[in-house]
Amino acid sequence: MVLSDRGFAGVKSHDVFRLMVDSVVDYAIFVLDPTGVVVSWNLGAERLKGYKPKEIIGKHFSIFYTPADLANDKPGHEIRGAAELGRFEDEGWRVRKDGSRFWANVILTRILDEHGTLIGFGKITRDLTDRHQSEFRYRLLVEGVVDYAIYSMDVHGNVGSWNLGAERMKRYKADEIEGKHFSIFYTEEDRKKGLPERILRTAVETGHFEGEGWRVRKDGSRFWASVVVTPLRDDVGNLYGFSKVTRDISERKALQDAIQQHADELELRVQEREQSNAELEAFAYSVSHDLRAPLRAIGGFAEALRQDYDSHLDDGGRDYLKEIVAAVARMNTLVQDLLDYGRVSRIDISLGPVNLLEAVNDAVRQLGDERRGSLRVDVAPDLRVQAQQQVLTQMIFNLLSNAFKFHSRNSAPEVRLSAQPKNGAVRLTVRDNGIGIAPQHQQRIWQVFERLHDRESYPGTGIGLAIVHRAVERMQGNRGVESEVGKGSTFWVELPRAPENSKETNHE
Ligand code: ADP
Repeated sequence: MVLSDRGFAGVKSHDVFRLMVDSVVDYAIFVLDPTGVVVSWNLGAERLKGYKPKEIIGKHFSIFYTPADLANDKPGHEIRGAAELGRFEDEGWRVRKDGSRFWANVILTRILDEHGTLIGFGKITRDLTDRHQSEFRYRLLVEGVVDYAIYSMDVHGNVGSWNLGAERMKRYKADEIEGKHFSIFYTEEDRKKGLPERILRTAVETGHFEGEGWRVRKDGSRFWASVVVTPLRDDVGNLYGFSKVTRDISERKALQDAIQQHADELELRVQEREQSNAELEAFAYSVSHDLRAPLRAIGGFAEALRQDYDSHLDDGGRDYLKEIVAAVARMNTLVQDLLDYGRVSRIDISLGPVNLLEAVNDAVRQLGDERRGSLRVDVAPDLRVQAQQQVLTQMIFNLLSNAFKFHSRNSAPEVRLSAQPKNGAVRLTVRDNGIGIAPQHQQRIWQVFERLHDRESYPGTGIGLAIVHRAVERMQGNRGVESEVGKGSTFWVELPRAPENSKETNHE
């Protein structure tokens, strides 16, 4: 500091300076003669070290050092360093008058007279015990961590500090790796692509880099790493390096890869199955289609036989003929159902708003008078769903005819059809008081040909619910059943609700 000789408020400048030094309390500021004997002592020095000026002036400054430092002649080393270089800075333990220690930052500055002769040293000491303790604890913590590699790098990416976790994970000892560029941990391909540089650039630009990738150990083996890089900046924001935390997540990666592989295989199987299912369905459709003509012929000739040759047949012959006609009727139903199933699976379905009550009424008309009498319908007239009218009608018909068909022997069928809007969808419910379905069968009944009863008790083809299932799937809805044996069943279907102001388009 240079003060003009005019002084300050009438006080001579060197006195102002002296007053200032004397009153500083956060720093110990004192002067040593060329041999290291204390010649001045400020208030800060008294506070920090516990000596009054008269107790310390005239004593050698080595009194402040620990026995270990004294054994190494640290005081002598510092004085000689300052004498030669002009300035010497150090951090270390110092001893107070009462024997307690503090962590000091020390700056020793050479003082020369106008001829360049050494006349002593100025010494400024700061107590950094608190900071040192927390840094020390932090270092202990970092060094002791074994599950994470934690290390620092300079601005160029050269490795600085290196913890135990880093040593274990990457297999380099600290002294082998310090000063080496961190790209050594990357694979050849990543190095060629400039990944290490890109990581540092991203960290600088965004304040953070986080990623996963292959890393290479000293022995050349690889591990899958999760990495976080953070730029380190000083108080004024200048970049002085990076910290890097790496975790070996190879096990997790292996697990994820295995899961992914299974998922891919499964996906492939599903695709293959869908493909072969579609081929089978196409095959069944064309077979059913082609069966109709010979079936009609069998039916026709059986009828001709009955009409024209009845007198030639005995009772046994007539019974056989009856069986043929019944079998033809059953096969006709089967062929028709298969064709319906094929149609629902294959036709282009264009969805549009359909009035639900109208579709219900169409289905009910096909039921027959007797059944209609024991059906209750509870559907609001303005309720509309996104659907295809024909498919929707067929679906409702299948549910209703099942509800009537599977009634119990000891009570008359009662069936109720209702519909309620539900979160952007409409749920259609068909409830009966029939024989019910055991829980273990409630899934499989939706598949083609899955039936729970013999044909004598309840006739059918096992295709009705498969059509419902496929129709719902194609109209982007959902379906389900709640049932208990002997207590009736409730089948439900959910379809997207049509927007309020949309026009009905599907009346074909
Ligand atoms: P189908 O009615 O021709 O037998 P579905 O595919 O319509 O074929 O139904 C499959 C099976 O599910 C039926 O055979 C029956 O066992 C069971 N099922 C369907 N609806 C009901 C119902 N409402 N009550 C009891 N069982 C039912």
